[in-house]
Amino acid sequence: MYPETRLHIAGEWRGARSGETLPIMNPATGEEIGRLPKAGIADLDEALAAAERGFKIWKAVSAFERSKILRKAADLLRARVDEIARTMTIEQGKPLAESKGETLAAADTIDWFAEEARRAYGRVIPARADGVLQIVVREPVGPVAAFTPWNFPINQAVRKVSASLATGCSVILKGPEETPGSCAALIQTYLDAGVPGDVLSLVFGVPAEISGYLIPHPVIRKVTFTGSTPVGKQLASLAGLHMKRVTMELGGHAPAIVFRDADVDKAVSVLVANKFRNAGQVCVSPTRFLVHDSILEDFTEKFTAAAKKLKVGDGLDPATRMGPLAHDRRIGAIEGFVQDAKQAGAEIRTGGSRIGNQGYFFEPTVLSNVPLSARIMNEEPFGPVAAINGFSDDDEALTEANRLPYGLAAYAYTRSTETAERAASQIESGMVSINHHGLALPEVPFGGIKDSGYGSEGGSEAIEAYLNSKFVSQARA
Ligand code: NAD
Repeated sequence: MYPETRLHIAGEWRGARSGETLPIMNPATGEEIGRLPKAGIADLDEALAAAERGFKIWKAVSAFERSKILRKAADLLRARVDEIARTMTIEQGKPLAESKGETLAAADTIDWFAEEARRAYGRVIPARADGVLQIVVREPVGPVAAFTPWNFPINQAVRKVSASLATGCSVILKGPEETPGSCAALIQTYLDAGVPGDVLSLVFGVPAEISGYLIPHPVIRKVTFTGSTPVGKQLASLAGLHMKRVTMELGGHAPAIVFRDADVDKAVSVLVANKFRNAGQVCVSPTRFLVHDSILEDFTEKFTAAAKKLKVGDGLDPATRMGPLAHDRRIGAIEGFVQDAKQAGAEIRTGGSRIGNQGYFFEPTVLSNVPLSARIMNEEPFGPVAAINGFSDDDEALTEANRLPYGLAAYAYTRSTETAERAASQIESGMVSINHHGLALPEVPFGGIKDSGYGSEGGSEAIEAYLNSKFVSQARA
């Protein structure tokens, strides 16, 4: 049912040198489904030595050849989608259709990076003197340490690994301990497609121990992390201390502004689907719903009715629209947000509680009239809870959208071109999507500003993050 998952180091799938393991749970049942090797320093040293060797090998392979290998990996991933999606649902909880969608989207991401890295052009700069050639060449930054979380076990990893491999870097990926099987299956596709074993390592263990060892290590030249803002700040500080290039894709608290002239039915349908996708455990999930007073009750009623209709259950059941939370820590966290909001005076329109006590299921929850002092209006909820508040004028909504230190994604619904332009220009966010949910395609930038991090995980910007510019000036001998 669930594959045995191991570390991949120096071309070998194996257990930890210490023999230590960690449990893997099925969040739909709360039962242990396997054990995972826990990498220690001896394993990390071997991965680092492999990354150093692998970088020398891989940077010498032409961009054209690397691209061919990556495209083969994308095809293998597509061919294995059913098996991988099932593993993902068993370990992570999301409905099977979402797991399949994630796996196929990952194949598109690999294809895109494979193509884009062939266009990592340098340039020629006109010289001041005759006979001087001034060129800028792009070189891979070096071995990468990548850290990815459990909410999208494949899609967080595929961006970092594909960008590394496409540009000629070797990479050590610390995958998600909660959801290791599908991530390991992704790594297998790159290896089966022809990526040399030393180029790509996969480790699991205690996250702080692994990052604390890899980031300062002289072999590592680039750090990329997806996860919470507090952890991102710690890792970015450590990387800064050791002068490592960094990409940080951190938490968000996305405002969704529904202006008075919006198409309410369309806004409800798109926002409900995206609020409860992956049980709200999405960094770009809409979280603060700001709705014009004139349509507030209509919007809230329709949103609540749609949330009530969502079938919550085991992701393997084809009828399920929302699976369990990914691990037991999230249950306590979401219960805490809801209780705190209730105490602060918020109204619970639907949901608010854990479902049963087997597995980590939580009701799709809608809160209204939520005071700004409530924790959920300030900290990233990362769960199936929507907080809906009204506003009377547009400036008030835009000010509220920008109130928090986060700046990852933002949404707006309006029929007015002028209001859409105002929202796009005034919201402080790395991504703004208007009248639809149009984020996270491989070819468009994906990343935040302010406390949501820096750097991009999509578009040509994502390739830049793995390249150094070298200036060469050559005169006639
Ligand atoms: P957490 O902060 O302990 O872990 C989040 C992720 O960071 C995990 O993948 C974990 O392995 C990793 N991590 C934690 N400490 C680390 C360290 N010192 N070095 C390297 N990696 C480290 O919390 P959690 O309970 O797993 O998740 C809760 C919070 O994490 C959520 O509230 C959300 O804000 C954030 N999160 C964000 C994303 C995202 O896509 N941006 C994904 C998952 C979790």
